[in-house]
Amino acid sequence: MISVDAYRETVTELLGRAPVTTLPLADAAGLVLAEDVLAGVSLPPFDNSAMDGYAVRSADVAAVPVTLPVADDIPAGRVDVRPLEPGTAQRIMTGAPIPPGADAVVMVEDTDRGTEQVLISTAATAGDHVRRTGEDVTQGTVALYAGTVLGHSQLGLASAVGLAELKVYRPLSVLVVSTGTELVEAPKPLRHGQIYESNSVMLAAALRELGCRVAVVRSVVDDVEEFRKIIEPKLADADLLVTSGGVSAGAYEVVKDALTGQGVQFRKVAIQPGGPQGCGRWNGVPVVTLPGNPVSVLVSFEAFLRPALLSAMGHTVLDRRRVRARLTEAMTSPGGRRQFRRGYYTPTEGQVTGVVGPRGGPGSHLLAAFTQANCLIVLPEEVTEAAEGSEVDVLLL
Ligand code: AMP
Ligand code: MG
Repeated sequence: MISVDAYRETVTELLGRAPVTTLPLADAAGLVLAEDVLAGVSLPPFDNSAMDGYAVRSADVAAVPVTLPVADDIPAGRVDVRPLEPGTAQRIMTGAPIPPGADAVVMVEDTDRGTEQVLISTAATAGDHVRRTGEDVTQGTVALYAGTVLGHSQLGLASAVGLAELKVYRPLSVLVVSTGTELVEAPKPLRHGQIYESNSVMLAAALRELGCRVAVVRSVVDDVEEFRKIIEPKLADADLLVTSGGVSAGAYEVVKDALTGQGVQFRKVAIQPGGPQGCGRWNGVPVVTLPGNPVSVLVSFEAFLRPALLSAMGHTVLDRRRVRARLTEAMTSPGGRRQFRRGYYTPTEGQVTGVVGPRGGPGSHLLAAFTQANCLIVLPEEVTEAAEGSEVDVLLL
């Protein structure tokens, strides 16, 4: 048996690092920036008003109340602003450029809202309600560093400094294949002995959440020739093939039978659930073969595929957030394997350690319990019994 950590390392090495590509901002969400982004403009690009109001010289409104003629109107977007003459005001909107000569904005609430002349009731000092050029970002400096995960705020900033495209680590294209003669696609009716296929839907969703592109072959029967005939021609378009089912110790193990001796190595990992695993290359394309039980699929994804894919796509944070929690009930675990149990974690107000209880038993077919879980409880290899109230590691999903 190979350890969880060693196998994770093997899968991570297999996937390597994706090449860099240039994508429009809208397609870069969730991906990792591959080079520093320099600001092409300052933010704000010009001094502008933080309020709807009146641009003034602060000296003209030091003593209030005072009435000033309104010399001009400056909506946002106006590009031909005229200088402010002493003893006058210009009506100005939020985001509009401050006219040369003005040094403050009086907000509309402190005036009579006049359009010919305006009565100002509150004194202003220089700089009031003025957003200065470069206050947020200075032109020519680094706005976003290589390695940044492109979430909403980062994509917003890239847009704001004038970029339409970004260099990112290319999202991997993953071919997901479910195997099993028993598998049926809804809404076809089930015959006794058949089940609805679910692994490909789960894997596709989990992969897309990481930013991967996904193609799916919903179900292939347990026939080696059939498997090769359907999947081999599709490999050319994939950066990675992920299969489920057909890798354990029985007969009719289609994935194992088709790929043994083709560059894929099958082994037992010291993990529960999800022990039977395989990985390698088929026609040069990386392959990760997962067991068939739905919970094994999800746990294998968390333990091996997720960190390896994140690493391949340039991420540096590869792990789920890990916290300590007290068990609300006793649990057992097979010695010599790291057990991942589905659990529900509740933080304890004002304390570092929360509480966690299992959702469902250890069975790798108990998918409904997984849907009620918000974490995986980690019971290490040396643990066979964990008492109620003892502290365990929890991975927050
Ligand atoms: P296997 O690893 O092929 O022996 O499958 C183990 C168990 O998982 C069996 O009970 C299968 O019916 C079930 N299983 C395999 N693939 C799927 C799938 N795609 N969707 C739902 N259940 C599956
Ligand atoms: Mg099977």
